[in-house]
Amino acid sequence: MKAWFLRSFKKGIVTSSFPSGKNESLSPWATTPAGDISGEVNCPVDAIHNDKVDSGKCISCGICFPQFKPSLQIPQITTTRVEKSLSKSMKLYIFDSGTCGACNLEIMALNSPQYDMNRLGLSFTNTPRQADAIMVTGVLTDGMIDPLKAAIDSMASPKIVFAVGACAISGGIMGKSISEIVGLDVQVPGCPPDPFVIMAAIEKARGRI
Ligand code: SF4
Repeated sequence: MKAWFLRSFKKGIVTSSFPSGKNESLSPWATTPAGDISGEVNCPVDAIHNDKVDSGKCISCGICFPQFKPSLQIPQITTTRVEKSLSKSMKLYIFDSGTCGACNLEIMALNSPQYDMNRLGLSFTNTPRQADAIMVTGVLTDGMIDPLKAAIDSMASPKIVFAVGACAISGGIMGKSISEIVGLDVQVPGCPPDPFVIMAAIEKARGRI
């Protein structure tokens, strides 16, 4: 008990001050590749056009390295609606439409001491009926189309629909975009997105940054 106390005392405060402070780090795979391309790149998801990478499609496979390297910058987050009424408190519901699990883990990391989502008025809920926002992850398998529609229908307004990760945004290598089935408010790129990127997207959707 004494050792545990001393260890935590020595470590100090681990919680990030983001978004009021700067994000301390960003995982390379969550940042859009950028660089000078010379020669053909056989991108498996056709994400490269006019020497630029579409962050909503890129699955961070690394095939384009070293022509393109992770930019280490927060990728472009697309927001079509800002809901300021949720700026003080927002409940998040994670909907897995067919993932490898990576996006879900990064979203759940928001609840860890490093990110501490509660300081921003954010919490998770296990039912869409109590949720203000739905975080859809995965390639949208056929069997999850009806459950996704039902989950969104059961949410009270105002509600925000997030597509988290390249698979949800564009379908990745084998699926379809959730935008083919439901209206999308926020696109969070990355494979998987970094918790700082997810946090930035949430704050942007609530008009806080
Ligand atoms: S990392 Fe892979 S998916 Fe992303 S742009 Fe490069 S080749 Fe395409």
